[in-house]
Amino acid sequence: MTTPQAQPFRPRKILARLLRAFGTQRWWPARTPFEVCVGAVLTQNTAWKNVERAIAALREARALTPHGLRALSRSALARRLRPAGYFNVKERRLRAFVAFLTDEFGGAVARMRQIETHALRRRLLEVHGIGRETADSILGYAVGKPIFVVDAYTRRIFSRHGWIRDDEDYDTLRARVERAWAGLSAQRRVRDFNELHALLVAVGKDYCRPRAPRCAVCPLRAMLPSSGILAPTAARHERKAGVGRPQERTPSHSRSGRRLEGFLRHSERSL
Ligand code: SF4
Repeated sequence: MTTPQAQPFRPRKILARLLRAFGTQRWWPARTPFEVCVGAVLTQNTAWKNVERAIAALREARALTPHGLRALSRSALARRLRPAGYFNVKERRLRAFVAFLTDEFGGAVARMRQIETHALRRRLLEVHGIGRETADSILGYAVGKPIFVVDAYTRRIFSRHGWIRDDEDYDTLRARVERAWAGLSAQRRVRDFNELHALLVAVGKDYCRPRAPRCAVCPLRAMLPSSGILAPTAARHERKAGVGRPQERTPSHSRSGRRLEGFLRHSERSL
């Protein structure tokens, strides 16, 4: 679905334009596929710099392997996750993912490659605390499966250009992007989907801000409708949905873990 004023939705053109402007992003910033998975779980509802601090603490404790992480006590693990926020919630989520990885794949992320993409995605989504964005980040960046990760930046950019509705379903949007690469090799799709997501994050952070977007200097300005931005209320919508500026929306640490779990689940669903 696009609005009548919008330019045609051409994700491959978006990618080409952003690559010309920014070059390749070399995502995901991690040393091992397992570290990508850890980062994907920890980045829920927090800024990446906080995740980096938690990952550094895990590295220092030699806990950036499934075995090392399992060897830490609950309190020792939570302590190291503290910089990433909601450390008790994330401790349970990380432990659940590691149990899944260990029980079903002997602790080796590479073994997940043998499973068909959507079958593996279904299994990941059954793991406690893994929502669609987290599952797709793991699939795309750690396992190397051809899947496009949708996040709040993607939604904001696409809706401002009139390419999607504000409330477009996550999987509908993902499939619309992926369709543009139909027939191309899996290797090409993995590379392009991962690059497109990383580049949209770059645009969302530096140009397509919730308030005061910098269209005049943005590499995507030529793809705007002649009437300009089509979703001026996007920032308000994102705040209502709990995305875009998550840290301002998160409840205080004094609330119970169960309520935090509910909030974090809602936040992923709202994508
Ligand atoms: S800043 Fe403007 S031109 Fe750039 S992506 Fe956002 S709406 Fe489009």
